[in-house]
Amino acid sequence: MHLPALVLLRTLLIPWVGAAALLAAPWTGARAQEPDEYILTLPSGPAAPAQGGSVRFIGNATVLIEYQGLAILTDPNFLPRGSFVRLGYGLRSERLAGPAISIDALPPVDLVVLTHLHEDHFDWLVQQRLRRDVPIVTTSEAAPQLEELGFTQHYGLAAWDSLTVRKGEARLRVTALPARHGPRALAWLLPEVMGALLDFGPGAFGPAYRMYISGDTVLFDELAQIGQRFPDIDLALLHLGGMRLAGPFKLSMDGEDGARLLQLTGARRAIPLHFSDYDMFHSPLADFQRATRAAGLDGRVIHLERGDTYTLPLERAEGQTGQPAPAGYSYFEMKNGNKNAVSISDIHFQKIMN
Ligand SMILES: [Zn+2]
Repeated sequence: MHLPALVLLRTLLIPWVGAAALLAAPWTGARAQEPDEYILTLPSGPAAPAQGGSVRFIGNATVLIEYQGLAILTDPNFLPRGSFVRLGYGLRSERLAGPAISIDALPPVDLVVLTHLHEDHFDWLVQQRLRRDVPIVTTSEAAPQLEELGFTQHYGLAAWDSLTVRKGEARLRVTALPARHGPRALAWLLPEVMGALLDFGPGAFGPAYRMYISGDTVLFDELAQIGQRFPDIDLALLHLGGMRLAGPFKLSMDGEDGARLLQLTGARRAIPLHFSDYDMFHSPLADFQRATRAAGLDGRVIHLERGDTYTLPLERAEGQTGQPAPAGYSYFEMKNGNKNAVSISDIHFQKIMN
């Protein structure tokens, strides 16, 4: 772990989001060790816009998320149409649809969320042009590989670990979530993948907006824990495509799997990604549309063309917040088992040191 501006709070950072949810839904995972929690403080930069946020679909699994002065880029892939990406073992895939903008047209990026190191998520152009010191949140496996590529600020997380980013008044907590790029038997052949939960800004009793990024994953049991541990997901970004390389094995969700995961997570809205950019994708968007229609979920789906922007309704409507905390107070679950009651107004990123 490379930790220049990072304060490691291995035991004691209080989760400001979901503090109330902790009371209602304590950790139930099988993981023996408690998740690690980190804080990253970024330079403030210019004053952030008052409210609001957006998701702009650039192509494949690349989106630009902007929230109150924070700009987050996911799985950057800026190769033009006709380029080939290498996926290991001599396998490669052609890009059939180019990105909406060039990498040079990006606004300054505060953070990259990289679900895994495959070239259709972090290509050679990005490896050349991306700022070397941009903070990159990724898997524990990819972090040292990014170091070798010359990137200096990488934060490798295991599933359920989290990194809280502060920039001026803006707050974002990124939690790494389970994902698996294919059948268990083939796991050793494929890069480690993570899903990501993005909790934006402190709301009254939890995050103001909660976003889930699936990463390239197939459906497997542990995914069911995501909605259990993190209810109230506002938006799911689903990596589809029913990717196959060589052989019969599915390496990412097809349309039906995507509909199933939308159901499992209980997300209010979903944006399908990663379904037609490469010739390794075998499940077109129409599969997802059919499956969501059949399951009565089509009202939740937002379809973005490359270059389209979805504006985040950051203020949740009445009745959409999570479990209410006792009036005026919330509880911090500490890893030593103690609980402290703290006034809501004090909870934003308070550190409690040993
Ligand atoms: Zn992919």
